[in-house]
Amino acid sequence: MTMSTASRTNCLVYLIGAGPGDPGLITVRGRECIARADVVIYDYLANDELLSFARPDAELIYAGKVGGQHNRAQWQINELLVRKALEGRIVARLKGGDPFVFGRGGEECEALVTAGVPFEVVPGVTAGIGAAAYAGIPLTHRNVTTSVAFVTGHESPGKKSSDIDWEGLSLGSGTVVFYMGVKSLPHITENLMAHGRRADTPVALVRWGTRPEQEVLVGTLADIADKVRRTGFKAPAITVVGEVVRLRKTLRWFDNRPLFGRSIMVTRAADQAGEFSVMLRSLGARVLECPTIAIAPPESWDDLDSAISRIDTFDWAIFTSFNAVRFFFQRLDAAGRDSRALGACRICVVGPKTAEALAPYGIRPDLVAADYKGEGVIEALRDVPLAGKRVLFPKGDRARDVIPTGLAAFGAHVEAPVAYRNAAPDALPAGTIEELEDRRIHCVTFTSSSTVQNLAAILGENRMLHLLEGVIIASIGPITSRSCRELGLQVHIEPQEYTLAALTAEMVRHFSAPA
Ligand code: SAH
Repeated sequence: MTMSTASRTNCLVYLIGAGPGDPGLITVRGRECIARADVVIYDYLANDELLSFARPDAELIYAGKVGGQHNRAQWQINELLVRKALEGRIVARLKGGDPFVFGRGGEECEALVTAGVPFEVVPGVTAGIGAAAYAGIPLTHRNVTTSVAFVTGHESPGKKSSDIDWEGLSLGSGTVVFYMGVKSLPHITENLMAHGRRADTPVALVRWGTRPEQEVLVGTLADIADKVRRTGFKAPAITVVGEVVRLRKTLRWFDNRPLFGRSIMVTRAADQAGEFSVMLRSLGARVLECPTIAIAPPESWDDLDSAISRIDTFDWAIFTSFNAVRFFFQRLDAAGRDSRALGACRICVVGPKTAEALAPYGIRPDLVAADYKGEGVIEALRDVPLAGKRVLFPKGDRARDVIPTGLAAFGAHVEAPVAYRNAAPDALPAGTIEELEDRRIHCVTFTSSSTVQNLAAILGENRMLHLLEGVIIASIGPITSRSCRELGLQVHIEPQEYTLAALTAEMVRHFSAPA
C-alpha cells in the first residue's frame, strides 16, 4: 500500500455550520464532529467557544477573514483543507452560520472533490434565520408574508450589471434578508424603492445576532440608510426588509432580558457554578465561569485513612458535601473496602444534593437535614440518642465548627478528619485576564470569602484591584463583603438574604436601575 492510499483511507473533512453565534445553536452532529477532529479550521464568524468541544490535542487553525480583509485567500483555505486531510487527519472546517449559505462552502467542497478527499456537510443555523429569531422577527407570518429570500448585499466586485432580481424582490410582500449588506445599504434601499417597494416598508438591521453583543436598528426603506450612517452601525449584520419587522415590537424576547448585554464573571468552584450560571444566562447575561476555588486532596490522608481503618466502630457518619462523599469513598476504595463497610453505621446528610451523591454507592441516608447547613444537621440529630456514640464527620478544610461542637454537646465522640481542601487554582481560565483588561466584564460575583481571597492570591492584590477597577462587585452577604473590603474592593451589590436567588434578583435590580 502506498503512503498516499494509506492516508486517503483515514482522511475526512467535516464542513460544519457553527451557527450564528450563540454556541448553543450548533447542531448535535456538528459538536460530535468537532470532538472527533484532529484539526479544526475555524472562521471569524464561528464562535470561539465552540473550540472547547475540540480534543485537547487537536490542532486549531484560524482561517481568518475580517470584513473583506482576507488573511488568507479562499484558494489558500481550500489548499489548507486538502493538505491537512491528505496528511491522514480528520479535519473539522467550522464556518459561521450554514456552510452552504453565502459561506463559500460549495467552493471548498469542489476543491475536496478535485483532490479526492471525502467530506460530510453538517448544516448550521444561518445568520438570517438565527439573528431574525433572536430579534423577535418571524421571517414569515401567515397574515403578513408568504415568502422569504436570502440575498447577498455584496456582489462580487467588478461585476458590470447586477445579478440581483431587484424587480422580483421589490414587487409583492415577501421578506428579504440581505447578508453582507451594511456598506451597500443605500444602494439596496434605493433599488428596492425604485423597483416598487413602498418607502415606509419597515427594515431591521441585526448586528452580531444571537450573541450577547446583539444590536438591532429599526427604520424604514426611506430612512434606514441614514440612521445607519448617523449611528455608525457596523457589520456584521443582516438586514431584514418587510412588514414582518413590525412584529418585533410584540415578539421581542432576547435583547430585552434584564441582564442582556452584561458580562458577568462567576468565581465559584467549577462543580458548583452551574446552577448560578444557568440562572444568570436565562436572564440574558453572558457568563464567564472562572473558578477561583479548586477542590484538592488534603495535605495528608493519614487522619481520614485512620478513621476508615476503624470504620466498623462508628455509629454515625455525617456528610455535608458532594466532595466529602467523593473523597471518603475514594479512600475507602483505596483501603480495599466498599459500601458494606458502613453496614452498621447510620448516615446523615446536609441536604438532597448530598443524598444524591451517595446514591451511586448504593446508600440511602437515614437522615436528611431540612435546613441545608451545619445547624440543620444538628437540628436533625437532636432527637437521636447520641450520648457515648461515635460519629465520623469527613469534612472540608474550611468547614465551620458547628457540627463537631453541636454533637459534642449531645455527648457524642466526634472524629472530623479533613477529606478535601478548598485550594486556589494556579491560574484563571485562558482569556479571562484579557477580558478583564479590555473591560469586557461588567460584573464579578463573589459567593464566599474564599472566592475573593483566592482571586487575590491568584492575581496578586494590586493586580486584582487594577483589573477590577470600574467593575461592579456583587457579593452574596456581609461576610463575603467584608473580605472584599479588606482587600480594597468596593461592594456595589449585596442582597438581604444570603442566597444565589436573592443575589441574582439584586443584580437584576442594580442593572435595571436608570444610570
Ligand atoms: N454562512 C454564513 C454567512 C456568511 S456571509 C451564514 O449562513 O450565516 C457573512 C455575513 O453573514 C455577514 O456579513 C452578515 O451579514 C451575516 N452574519 C453572520 N453572522 C451574523 C450574526 N451573528 N449576526 C448578523 N449577521 C451575521
